[in-house]
Amino acid sequence: MILEILGHSYQYELEKLTRLFFPNEKIHVVFEKRTQSDAEPLCSTEIRDGSARVFCRFGEKAWEQNVTLENVQDPELQIASMLFCALKELTGYTPKWGLLTGIRPSKLLLALQAEMGNENARTYFRDRFFVSEEKTALTESVASREEAIIRTSRPDSCSLYVSIPFCPTRCSYCSFVSHATTSPTAKKLVPEYVSLLTKEIAQTGAYAKSLGLRLESVYFGGGTPTTLSAEQLESLLAAIDSAFDLSTVREYTVEAGRPDTVTRKKLDTLKNGGVTRISINPQTFNDAVLREIGRNHTSALTESAYLEARDAGFHNINMDFIAGLPTDTPDSFASSIDRALRLQPENITVHTLSLKRASRLGTQNTQVERAAGLAADEMLGYAYRNLTENAYHPYYMYRQSKTLGNLENTGYAKSGFECIYNIFMMEECHTVFAVGAGAVTKLKSPHGKEIERIFNYKYPYEYISGFEEILARKEKILPFYEKYI
Ligand code: SF4
Repeated sequence: MILEILGHSYQYELEKLTRLFFPNEKIHVVFEKRTQSDAEPLCSTEIRDGSARVFCRFGEKAWEQNVTLENVQDPELQIASMLFCALKELTGYTPKWGLLTGIRPSKLLLALQAEMGNENARTYFRDRFFVSEEKTALTESVASREEAIIRTSRPDSCSLYVSIPFCPTRCSYCSFVSHATTSPTAKKLVPEYVSLLTKEIAQTGAYAKSLGLRLESVYFGGGTPTTLSAEQLESLLAAIDSAFDLSTVREYTVEAGRPDTVTRKKLDTLKNGGVTRISINPQTFNDAVLREIGRNHTSALTESAYLEARDAGFHNINMDFIAGLPTDTPDSFASSIDRALRLQPENITVHTLSLKRASRLGTQNTQVERAAGLAADEMLGYAYRNLTENAYHPYYMYRQSKTLGNLENTGYAKSGFECIYNIFMMEECHTVFAVGAGAVTKLKSPHGKEIERIFNYKYPYEYISGFEEILARKEKILPFYEKYI
């Protein structure tokens, strides 16, 4: 595939747009007209003498349009629209998100609403970016709920993220840095990792206290934090309790994602340590699909871990699902959602399989991926309709590159149970201190939009060997705040 960029500088967006239609093809970007053989697929985009021209040719089929830019305010959007129409017509494929390639559609909609009012913003969002009616409604719902949570963040707010990059085994689709504790080398790292983590928590808490920051939310993610023993979890919860003032914390989440790591003792430890929200992630309730993705547990175990968590006193539980898992079907996915609805967790998060993960499972052909994307879209549609009909509201949504069908991840919640950490982190409302391997602290100026990141080493063994350097990097925290207070 050749993409000609002639007389303009919109390569980045146009290349991303072309990739929506041809996720697996090599796209050769060229900046001058090339003589190609007719067999070579071509997208030519050109701005010259006040006009935009798009010409695409795939085999026998061709599409061409010339538009004057005389009264056009945004030439980039104009030429992207033309390219989108050409690709849509020539491939017969209509991406539901139209030509939007950004990760936060709700942010764009909120900006449009502020500029032109809700009704005009809706029309502009849907028609100008070719977003489907369903995705427009989803974005509107997310935007209104996100905004309400964003408003609760204060200039002196902060949150804390704790990274536990260990899992009992590795799922076949996993693209995170997470070590399976079935490996003796990884397992040996855990005690020292936990011990150093308590030190990093102490140092971070001291900075937060000296700055007078108010801790709003705590989030343990991974990996699977409940891979740790009850004693190890207890030592981390105690470290947080003594390092931070927890009296202002509105939400305290620990991901207990894998049901095969959940025990009553760990649940009681979390509950006693102040945790208010946990995540128990079925991903699917289909046992054959669970086996296919390398999960060593059954759906019955997920359900019993969930009921045990209820019994231990958790009133805010999330369940994650993934649309597009290998061998899963729209019918089986629908059964998973129906079963979740019978269990009534407060949050249900529906992810789309990322192609990074899928490609490792062997779906590297555009046609196969497109079919998988259409199936994933059917699954998301089912989730949206059935969850919203059952009093779950979409409140949080983001898109990743390389997901099946370029689709989204959406958090649904019953009213009043929206995960505030997800919004604060995604919308960069305030500083998020992050501790542990792979964690990235995002410092945010209290009254402005300035962001500075502090990166920890990615892998647990580097975290351990480079721990002094990690502590030294955190010394940037106070000077950052001094600039803005
Ligand atoms: S539970 Fe999550 S982090 Fe752990 S291996 Fe599976 S996908 Fe990766």
